[in-house]
Amino acid sequence: MMIEDRLTMMMDGMSVKQLNTFAIDTTAQQIATAHNEDDLMAIWQAAKERLQPILLLGGGSNVLFLDSFAGTVLLNRINGIEVHEDTDAWHLHVGAGEDWHHLVCFALERGMPGLENLALIPGRVGSAPIQNIGAYGIEVETVCEYVDVLDMDHGKKIRLFKDECRFGYRDSIFKHHYRDSYAIVAVGFVLAKTWQPVLPTVT
Ligand SMILES: Cc1cc2nc3c(=O)[nH]c(=O)nc-3n(C[C@H](O)[C@H](O)[C@H](O)COP(=O)(O)OP(=O)(O)OC[C@H]3O[C@@H](n4cnc5c(N)ncnc54)[C@H](O)[C@@H]3O)c2cc1C
Repeated sequence: MMIEDRLTMMMDGMSVKQLNTFAIDTTAQQIATAHNEDDLMAIWQAAKERLQPILLLGGGSNVLFLDSFAGTVLLNRINGIEVHEDTDAWHLHVGAGEDWHHLVCFALERGMPGLENLALIPGRVGSAPIQNIGAYGIEVETVCEYVDVLDMDHGKKIRLFKDECRFGYRDSIFKHHYRDSYAIVAVGFVLAKTWQPVLPTVT
């Protein structure tokens, strides 16, 4: 796709109501959708050349628009789920734009347990490591193998393995060091075949 084609996907003064779960009815100057890393880079560079701020958005369930956004909302919709298997585990390489709950269902329907406690958490896969989403005794760090991050200013892709992600309670390195000009483009998960259910304790 030519850069001109990508730029025509942007629409001036478009409503973000459908793009945030609070359904705040305000506008962004431009909205653009990236289906691959080339799109992400091209849209990022074009907005930078216009000196526009950029808001990278997944499912819009952890943002609150207080006012109209005088910049480009960049929707990460890089999709795809690849599964590799070895004797001990299934390894899933998942595009950042995949819907989180869809991933949980995809895995369970194919007999790969491990994500079930995280069912129905809203948002996209690329956002999940940022706050290390969790529920019922499981957090993303339990099943994360790596996170692929694109340095948008230099076009360089970096793979951070789980131990480098500095996961904590609703925290990770992506809230601190790898932010602003970095986009998560894929997440790797490892689901052990020796599965044990993690059951919430009832007190
Ligand atoms: C009803 C409800 C229930 C929830 N339940 C839970 C729960 O049980 N457990 C839990 O942990 N959380 C929960 N959350 C919080 C929410 O689900 C998570 O924070 C989720 O990861 C947000 O995903 P999102 O794609 O909607 O992120 P967005 O709101 O789109 O983005 C959040 C932040 O991440 C940045 N971002 C998004 N995508 C990328 C990317 N690819 N690369 C770099 N930065 C990016 C955005 O710029 C923004 O700063 C809940 C939220 C709601 C509304």
